[in-house]
Amino acid sequence: MPYEGLIRTYRKYLPEIKDESIVTLLECNTPLIPSEDLSRRTGLNVYLKYEGLNPTGSFKDRGMTMAISMAKENNAKVVMCASTGNTSASAAAYAAKSGTMECVVIIPEGNIALGKLAQAMIHKAKVIQIRGNFDDALNIVKEVTDSYPVELVNSINPYRIEGQKTAAFEVCDVLGDAPHFHAIPVGNAGNITAYWKGYNEYEAAGISERLPKMLGFQAAGAAPIVHGHPIEKPETIATAIRIGNPASWKQAEAARDESGGLIDMVTDEEILEAYKILAAHTGVFCEPASAASVAGMLKLSEAGYFEDDRGATIVCTLTGHGLKDPNTAIKAIAEPVTVDNNLMAVLKEIGL
Ligand SMILES: *Cc1c(COP(=O)(O)O)cnc(C)c1O
Repeated sequence: MPYEGLIRTYRKYLPEIKDESIVTLLECNTPLIPSEDLSRRTGLNVYLKYEGLNPTGSFKDRGMTMAISMAKENNAKVVMCASTGNTSASAAAYAAKSGTMECVVIIPEGNIALGKLAQAMIHKAKVIQIRGNFDDALNIVKEVTDSYPVELVNSINPYRIEGQKTAAFEVCDVLGDAPHFHAIPVGNAGNITAYWKGYNEYEAAGISERLPKMLGFQAAGAAPIVHGHPIEKPETIATAIRIGNPASWKQAEAARDESGGLIDMVTDEEILEAYKILAAHTGVFCEPASAASVAGMLKLSEAGYFEDDRGATIVCTLTGHGLKDPNTAIKAIAEPVTVDNNLMAVLKEIGL
């Protein structure tokens, strides 16, 4: 059987949906890449769940195939979301695929990675920038969708979480059981909530035996859960997790506490360091926010957190593709060198 996309693959674990309502770009089934380099650095058995290989380049496609299919089933004509970029890219693409729905996205002015803005625009979403941050954008979307016949497709839409939980299923299907630890960036906290739900459902169904400790990582300048209060002006280069008041705050804390894990924070320097290690030593290019999972794992490893767990399996979710934000990549590494147009100059530069 050829691969049929998320909904048809995991249908029995998902809310019922009619065949003709399904809107799919054959998303998911993303690779779980073993990393020898990171395993050597940590003494763990490290796997990277590379969600950047989804149709629009982030894990948001998991929830979006569900949310847009449900919107189609409900005969919605317009869907709407607030976004730090990837949700809008995904919503715009799935609305385009539906053939029946328009998409409106509200984004914070000036804080969207260029690739993500390009995606929303080229898929013909109506893109509205506000002079405010993500949290402000989400409040506006909630007000509009409460009062008008417009479907909200942010992760407070429960179908988004339903779709996203399948990432945990895929991990278990590949490993034969859940990992011992699962490291993940935390922004609006929908994804950590979804993975924890997925791991629990597979365990309850008897398909996996273990439950992982959930290790969530916020950016130091946008760490409301770590500090225990909303952050009014969140700041980080990792724009996808630049969120001061996460919608799924309580659920993220529940995932942390029920699993015996933690939610910690990593600085922008630690994020960039992990981002560069991933690209240069494991061959995987992810966006800065994604690298928060690996930055957090490395931080805990250095602090001795895994001392008694040598060889334990850990999965780090890499939430989005590095090509979405080429500006950060180029800034993180020096400019390419320029030499004269002759062989000698090139050989000299190579060191031959
Ligand atoms: C949305 C997003 C996150 C944060 O996920 P939440 O569910 O909001 O916690 C992290 N990384 C990337 C690339 C994202 O697009």
